[in-house]
Amino acid sequence: MDIDYQNITIDELQNELFTTKQVTVAVLRLDKIDPILSGNKLFKLHYFLQQAKEQNKNTIVTFGGAYSNHLAATAYACKLNKLQAIGIIRGEKPTTPSHTLQYCVKNNMQLQFISRAEYDKKEKSQFLATVQNQYKNTLVIPEGGFSSLGSKGAGLIMDVFNVHNYTHICLAVGTATTLSGIIQNATKSQQIIAIPVLKGMTDLEKRMNTLIYQKYNPTQLTTWSEYHFGGYAKKTTALFNFMNECWVKYKLPLDFVYTAKAFYGVIDKIGNDFFPPSSNILFIHTGGLQGNLSLPANTLLF
Ligand SMILES: *Cc1c(COP(=O)(O)O)cnc(C)c1O
Repeated sequence: MDIDYQNITIDELQNELFTTKQVTVAVLRLDKIDPILSGNKLFKLHYFLQQAKEQNKNTIVTFGGAYSNHLAATAYACKLNKLQAIGIIRGEKPTTPSHTLQYCVKNNMQLQFISRAEYDKKEKSQFLATVQNQYKNTLVIPEGGFSSLGSKGAGLIMDVFNVHNYTHICLAVGTATTLSGIIQNATKSQQIIAIPVLKGMTDLEKRMNTLIYQKYNPTQLTTWSEYHFGGYAKKTTALFNFMNECWVKYKLPLDFVYTAKAFYGVIDKIGNDFFPPSSNILFIHTGGLQGNLSLPANTLLF
């Protein structure tokens, strides 16, 4: 599928702290693809869409919660590729749909709400057989694109942009699909830093085994587990203050679920001398700005 890379930039940030610590900090602005669509999500979908085309599928089925950036990106990508999109949504149908679900519907995605108990079975073969039966000629994409194919798509981020000279690449981690693509396509000397936004993520290694499409060196991976701010989608005033500060200082808009927490970690670790002098740090802005629409008005300056 055609991702419009033209708007994407790598922005170098200026701050006295970086000068003092003798590091450089740049941001790969995948969020500039579109304010609604998460940059990493379109990459994760790339090979699925290609497969749908090759196998003459006319429908894509995927899964997500009411605020899922993955659902929004899938709806958009399917519309662009003239595929029917079905979103299977976790939980009962709300009386007022979230802005994410409204966006999905506006982009022609058909929604099917299922109970949380049913949703937990979504990876079981029996459940998938029912889906295949219900929607003919369908390609099923796992939640968040979590698979080696999704990971390989995320790996394209490393190939499309000129990012092999950075000593450290830092990014937010949800399913770890994007992380896995980045590390598998990194050069041998690069350190990849994973910043989980889920509290107590202990199965990263197991996840990596599912996501593998080529060999990588596990010693290139560092995980910072302390920047989840209480757990997935949890928020604090300190987090909002940080987001507003990044907007004022760098004109960098961040989302409260993923990128703000991860970037907070990067700044914190620079202050704590994690990065040796002469480090060239790249932060991947994975997008997700549509998530901020769920915040009360006036929370953010942008
Ligand atoms: C989904 C998402 C992530 C996490 O990506 P994974 O591949 O699931 O780890 C990070 N940032 C944003 C903005 C996202 O929407």
